[in-house]
Amino acid sequence: MAKHIDSRIPEGPVAEKWTNYKAHQRLVNPKNKLKLDVIVVGTGLAGASAAASLGEMGFNVINLCIQDSPRRAHSIAAQGGINAAKCYQNDGDSVYRLFYDTVKGGDYRAREANVYRLAEVSNNIIDQCVAQGVPFAREYGGMLANRSFGGAQVSRTFYAKGQTGQQLLLGAYSSLSAQVHAGKVKLYTRYEMEDVVIVNGRARGIIAKNLVTGKLERFSANAVVIATGGYGNAYFLSTNAMGCNCTAAIQCYRKGAYMANPSYVQIHPTCIPVHGDKQSKLTLMSESLRNDGRIWVPKKLEDAKALQAGTKQGWEIPEEDRDYYLERRYPAFGNLVPRDVASRAAKERCDKGFGVNNTGLAVFLDFSESINRLGLDVIMQRYGNLFEMYEEITDVFPGDVANEINGVKYYKPMMIYPAIHYTMGGIWVDYELQTSIPGLFAIGECNFSDHGANRLGASALMQGLADGYFVLPYTIQNYLADQSIWGKVSTDLPEFDAAEKAVDAELDRLLNIKGKRSVDSIHKELGHIMWEYVGMGRTAEGLKTGLKKMHELEKEFDENLFVPGTKEGLNVELDKAIHLRDFFTMGQLVAFDALSRNESCGGHFREEYQTEEGEAKRDDENYFYVGCWEYKGKGNEPELIKEPLEYEAIKVQTRNYKN
Ligand SMILES: Cc1cc2nc3c(=O)[nH]c(=O)nc-3n(C[C@H](O)[C@H](O)[C@H](O)COP(=O)(O)OP(=O)(O)OC[C@H]3O[C@@H](n4cnc5c(N)ncnc54)[C@H](O)[C@@H]3O)c2cc1C
Repeated sequence: MAKHIDSRIPEGPVAEKWTNYKAHQRLVNPKNKLKLDVIVVGTGLAGASAAASLGEMGFNVINLCIQDSPRRAHSIAAQGGINAAKCYQNDGDSVYRLFYDTVKGGDYRAREANVYRLAEVSNNIIDQCVAQGVPFAREYGGMLANRSFGGAQVSRTFYAKGQTGQQLLLGAYSSLSAQVHAGKVKLYTRYEMEDVVIVNGRARGIIAKNLVTGKLERFSANAVVIATGGYGNAYFLSTNAMGCNCTAAIQCYRKGAYMANPSYVQIHPTCIPVHGDKQSKLTLMSESLRNDGRIWVPKKLEDAKALQAGTKQGWEIPEEDRDYYLERRYPAFGNLVPRDVASRAAKERCDKGFGVNNTGLAVFLDFSESINRLGLDVIMQRYGNLFEMYEEITDVFPGDVANEINGVKYYKPMMIYPAIHYTMGGIWVDYELQTSIPGLFAIGECNFSDHGANRLGASALMQGLADGYFVLPYTIQNYLADQSIWGKVSTDLPEFDAAEKAVDAELDRLLNIKGKRSVDSIHKELGHIMWEYVGMGRTAEGLKTGLKKMHELEKEFDENLFVPGTKEGLNVELDKAIHLRDFFTMGQLVAFDALSRNESCGGHFREEYQTEEGEAKRDDENYFYVGCWEYKGKGNEPELIKEPLEYEAIKVQTRNYKN
C-alpha cells in the first residue's frame, strides 16, 4: 500500500510556517536578513532570477553553475517565446483561460493551485523583463507582439525572434550582475554540486567540485535551492544542451527528496530528424513555426515510398495528394495541437509507412501557403534565424522556391520528427516549492512543477521565471524566518566531512574501474534502451525489458568503464561519468513510474491504454495523483508515495482538440 502525502494541508513542522507570522516579522529587520545565506545551484532562467531577487531582498546568495558564465546556461537555447495572459490581442484571454489551458494541456495531472498561481504571475514576468530591457518583438504601433503556441486558441506568446531564451537570460543576468556588484551574490562559475549536506534533517549546505582544479569544496547556508534543469539527456539524443544533467537532483533524491512523476517526459514534434549513429545532439525547430508552417505527409503510399527512395521530392506532390493530418484530425486546433498529440500523430503516420525521408521517420513542415500569402519578408522577420539554422544543418533553405504547379509556388519544406525535449517530472515540491527535505527547495525545470503530464509550448520560461522572480523569493522566507535565530552551521561538522568523503570515494571508484568502454559509448546505449522501451510508445512488457537492460548496462558501467586522467585538474570525462551514473538512476525511475501508471496521459503513452482513434486513455479513478518516489538504496526498488490531486475550479474531463 503506497503512502500518501498532501501538499496543501501541511502538518507538523511544515504547518508552523503558516502560523509563524511572528517569526516572519524578524525578516522585516534588514539586519536579520544579512545573517541569512542561501545557496542557489544553477544560473539558468530559474536560478539566475531567483539569485538576483534574493540578493535584492537583502539575503546573501551563493550562486553556482557548471558553465563559465551564467549566460551560457541551457536556457539560452529557448527559441519560441514565453506565455502571459496580458490579452493584448483582445482575443478573450484571461488569467483563468491561461490557467485552464495549462491544466487541460497537462492532461489534468498538474496540481491545480500551483497552476493558478503561475497564470496569475505570468503578466508580472513580462513587465519585469520589459523593465530590464528585454527586446520583445513589437507591432508597428509599439505594442508588444504575440504569436500562438500549441494548446491555445488565443495569441499569448511574447517573443524575441527565435531567441527568446537568450534575451530573457540576458535580462536576468543583468539583474544578477547588479547583485554580484553590490556584494549580495557570490558567483561560482565552473562549479558542480555533487551532494547536498543534511544536518539534523535539514538541508544545510552542499559539496561542490571546482571543475577546473578538481578540488572538492564545502558551502554552508540556511537553505539550498536547486535550479539545475531537466533530465532529458538520460535519452542521450535530445534537444537539450550537452551539459544538461540530473546529478544535483538525483543526489537530493538519494538524500531523501522525493522524485515526482518521472515518466512525464516531453517529446517535441518539430525537431530535425536523426540522420545517423554518429550524432550526439538533436536540434529543435521551434514550435512557433507551427503558426505558419503546415505539417503533412503524402496521401498515397507510393508517393511516400518514392520520397524514401529519393526518386521524388516533396514539392513535386500536388496539393490534392497531401495529407495535412493534424488539420484533418483536429480541425479546431489544427497544426497547433499540444506537443504530445502532434508527436504521436507524426509517429502514427510514419509507423504506417508515410514517412518522407530515407529512414521513413520524418514528416514535412511546409511554409508554401504562408509565404505565398504573406511574402518571404514577413516570414523571415518571424523565423529568419530558424530558417538559417535549418539551412546550416541540412543545406536546405525553406524559403527557396522549388516548383510551380498550376500557378502555385511550392517552397522547399522542412523535414521534422519528434525528439526528447523537456521533462515535466522532477523533484517533488510543495506549494512553497520546498522539497520533502526541510530547507531544500527546487525551482524551474528540475522540479515536477506545474505542467502535469504535458507542458504547453512557451510555458517553461514562464514557470522558471515565475518561480525565480515571484514565487520562491517569498515562499522561502517562511522557512528562513526561523533560521534568522539559528544561524548557519559550520562546514567542519561531521556531516560535511562524511559527504565530502563519499563524493571523493565515488570519484576514485569511477577512475579505478579502468575498463574498456568510454562514457559516451555506454551513454549512447542507455539512450537507445530509453528511446526504444521508455520512449514515445510504452508497454508493460517493454518497460520490464527496458528495466532489465538498464540494470545489465549499469553493471557494465560499474565494471567496464574507462575514465582517463586523474581527479586533479580539469577532467571532462570524469564529470560525464558522474552524470551518466545518475542518468541510470533517473532512467530507471522513469521506467518504474511508467510501469506503475496503467493509463495513458500527456507525454506518458502506454499503448495498452488508448482509444480506438489512438488517443491517450486516462484512468482518473485509479491514477489521479502525483506519483512520488522515495529512494531505498542502490539496487532496490524505490517506494511509491501518492499525492492525491484535488480540483476545485476545473472540471476534469477528456481532452478534446477536435472542436
Ligand atoms: C532547444 C530548446 C528550445 C526551447 N524553447 C523554449 C521556448 O521557446 N519557450 C519555453 O517556455 N521553453 C523553451 N524550452 C524549455 C526551456 O528552455 C527550459 O525548460 C528552461 O530554460 C529551463 O530553465 P532552468 O533554469 O530550469 O534550467 P537550465 O537553463 O537548464 O539551467 C540549469 C542551470 O543549472 C546549472 N547546473 C546543472 N547541474 C549543476 C550542478 N550539478 N551543479 C551546479 N550547477 C549545475 C547549469 O550550469 C545551469 O546554470 C526550450 C528548450 C530547448 C531545449
